[in-house]
Amino acid sequence: MMQWLQLNWQQLLIGFTCGAVLTALLAWLLFYLQQKKWQLNVADQLEDSIQQRTLELQITLTELADKNKQLEQQSTRDALTGVRNRAFFDQKLSAELKRSRRERSTLGLLMIDIDHFKAFNDNHGHLVGDLVIKEVAKCLQQELKRSTDHLCRYGGEEFAIILPNTDKEGAMVLAEQVRLCLANHRIQHEELELSISVSIGCYAAVAEIHSVSADYIQAADTALYQAKNEGRNKVVCSALSHSVITEQETPDESV
Ligand code: GH3
Ligand code: MG
Ligand code: MG
Repeated sequence: MMQWLQLNWQQLLIGFTCGAVLTALLAWLLFYLQQKKWQLNVADQLEDSIQQRTLELQITLTELADKNKQLEQQSTRDALTGVRNRAFFDQKLSAELKRSRRERSTLGLLMIDIDHFKAFNDNHGHLVGDLVIKEVAKCLQQELKRSTDHLCRYGGEEFAIILPNTDKEGAMVLAEQVRLCLANHRIQHEELELSISVSIGCYAAVAEIHSVSADYIQAADTALYQAKNEGRNKVVCSALSHSVITEQETPDESV
């Protein structure tokens, strides 16, 4: 009996130990698999979250780029008419002048002023005056066919058109086209039908070594005032050569 008990005891012990080891192994395997699954889940979640963040970042960057473009547009556009503003005009004319000098190409400039504009304000109010300015800008823009030509609001009811690679004849043809188009245009506002006309001063030349933007503006402006004096609704091209303008500007040191 004692011998049988001793034998079974040992078997029981071995069986129990094997069972315990197997249970521990199984538990460890289950734990390991669970841990792996959890790690995979965390990795998936992390990847999803990174993708989501990347997408959000891309959207933010696009929005930022759009906003920048919008701000840049606003800083170079006239708020009333939407055409380029005076700041843009100054920069562009200066840049085109340098190019004209470098490439020996003719640079043209038109200065355009609405005739008797004050009467629109006085007779119909400033809102109608604003409407006239907007309509003139629209017509002028429609007349420009080259993407390199730039229409700018110079100030008040005055516009300027920069015409790169355009000689005197070409500038005159465009100016006459613009004048005629506006003279035939009628602005409708409620029961009003308004006629408009513009006077245009034109100048074109290859920039000399000492040329500055003011030379072009002064020459086109002088021609504009001649057009006003000669009865308005008229195009006058400056007869001044560049050397004459420069001489006029140079202070006489002998005096
Ligand atoms: P001229 O034929 O000699 O050019 O006469 P004009 O009446 O057009 O010229 P003047 O320079 O006497 O008048 C320009 C007026 O334009 C004066 C100013 O009050 C008005 N003005 C300037 N800017 C604006 C604007 O943005 N809106 C309106 N409604 N009026 C403006
Ligand atoms: Mg004026
Ligand atoms: Mg005017």
